[in-house]
Amino acid sequence: MTTTEAPATTFESLDPRTGDVVGHHPVNSPEEVQAAVDRAREEAAWWRALSFDEREKHLQTWKGAMTRRVAQLAQVMHEETGKPHGDAMLEAALAIDHLAWAATHAEKVLKRRKVPSGLLMANQAAYVEYQPLGVIGVIGPWNYPVFTPMGSIGYALAAGNAVVFKPSEYTPGVGEWLARTFLESVGRPVLQVVTGFGETGHALCTSGVDKIAFTGSTATGKKVMAACAESLTPVVIEAGGKDALLVDSDADLEAAADAALWGACANAGQTCTGVERVYVHERVYDEFLSMLTAKAREVTAYDGADSKIGPITMPRQLEVIKRHIDDALARGGRAVVGGTEAVGERFVQPTVLVDVPEDSEAVQEETFGPTVTVAKVKDMDEAVERTNATRYGLGSTVFSKARGMELASRIRSGMTAVNGVITFAAVPSLPFGGVGDSGFGRIHGPDGLKEFTFAKAIARQRFKPLLALTTFARTEKADQQLASMITMLHGRGTTIRKS
Ligand code: NDP
Repeated sequence: MTTTEAPATTFESLDPRTGDVVGHHPVNSPEEVQAAVDRAREEAAWWRALSFDEREKHLQTWKGAMTRRVAQLAQVMHEETGKPHGDAMLEAALAIDHLAWAATHAEKVLKRRKVPSGLLMANQAAYVEYQPLGVIGVIGPWNYPVFTPMGSIGYALAAGNAVVFKPSEYTPGVGEWLARTFLESVGRPVLQVVTGFGETGHALCTSGVDKIAFTGSTATGKKVMAACAESLTPVVIEAGGKDALLVDSDADLEAAADAALWGACANAGQTCTGVERVYVHERVYDEFLSMLTAKAREVTAYDGADSKIGPITMPRQLEVIKRHIDDALARGGRAVVGGTEAVGERFVQPTVLVDVPEDSEAVQEETFGPTVTVAKVKDMDEAVERTNATRYGLGSTVFSKARGMELASRIRSGMTAVNGVITFAAVPSLPFGGVGDSGFGRIHGPDGLKEFTFAKAIARQRFKPLLALTTFARTEKADQQLASMITMLHGRGTTIRKS
């Protein structure tokens, strides 16, 4: 944050692998949050007055600085989340790619364009343009502390808004790194960061920002929405998920097993679009399960430079993971890899559960650990039905040679990867977001740019209307002509012309 008053208190940021303190950060008070938002409003006026080209230039400068220092950024992420350095690099690289896309495409997506005005209003020239909302409050999670908030920050900035970002209490250093490099690159604090706990996030919700982009759990998303309702502050909610992977009888099983394991265990399973359930056609179930099992036994979570799976970042999540595994086993499920003993003090080993009842927590609730349930289905209709039987609807994956696109369309989720896993998140032109308890609104792509704007409609009269309708001087003849015209245009119930 850019105000000069000393913060009342500070808090520590810890390395989850060891518990070592890696940083101290201010607990910003509501007054300090308000000061940041007030400052952002001044910056927003300057930023929105720039042309698309000028904003793009600034954002490209920031992108360049981030790219040149990406190893430093990855190190901060590694220290605060415990995730392997390579995974942190991948995450940062994807975030940079999204920033570049948003900066380059903002003008094309948002600039004023002419739209057809229709026969009744043929004397009007009609335009739509997308104007920045002003100041966007971004509240981010810790699991992908760069990629996830940058999906809002990058797109909101490219659309002409200023941003005040509240990172998770587990990853404040990452947030500060982003704001610092932005300031060094652009020279003005159009992006600021405020740090602290839930109260700081709540203060951002009630600070009069023009929109809140929240990413986090469904439960906190509800609190954010309730706080924002008081002032009719709009929200984007990117919440949790319980994503399924479907394996059809004609699927490439090797690739499907590889995707299931990586989707379930990458980032220690702490991925909103992570694979938490797998539904496999009965014809290939045994073969798939033995492939998945063999692969899962080769991966271990530990603290080491070459580790592929890091620790559980948030200690209290260990209880949730253990509870889900215990519940699954108590209700007749079997752990073919891992199990209760896989849950350690900081690390959780890959766990593959089978024969788990569909109404158990391990199938219905977000586990957020390196665990996955695998179930046999008689056909892909049953796979789709079971996939859709949750309150979440974030992402999904389909492995099928012949029916990938068809099955993808039938799954009720915001995103689906076909014969790949979580690939949709890395395509900048695709919208990212969910349905149901996974939230609403979209980041990424043209929809993600528009999310941080309002549509402005302009109708400009080109010549006097043949039928003067919007006047008290409207005549009876004009009413009759209108009736004839509307009958001619729409009376037959078929489309005469499209405009
Ligand atoms: P939380 O919901 O615990 O926290 C998210 C953010 O909200 C944090 O910055 C948190 O601050 C803040 N916060 C907490 N209480 C309040 C409040 N009352 N008002 C305003 N802000 C508040 O989520 P996690 O950080 O644990 O993240 C994991 C969750 O995020 C998972 O459910 C995951 O699925 C989801 N997620 C969703 C994604 C998506 O795009 N759909 C992407 C990535 C994650 P603090 O940390 O200081 O408490």
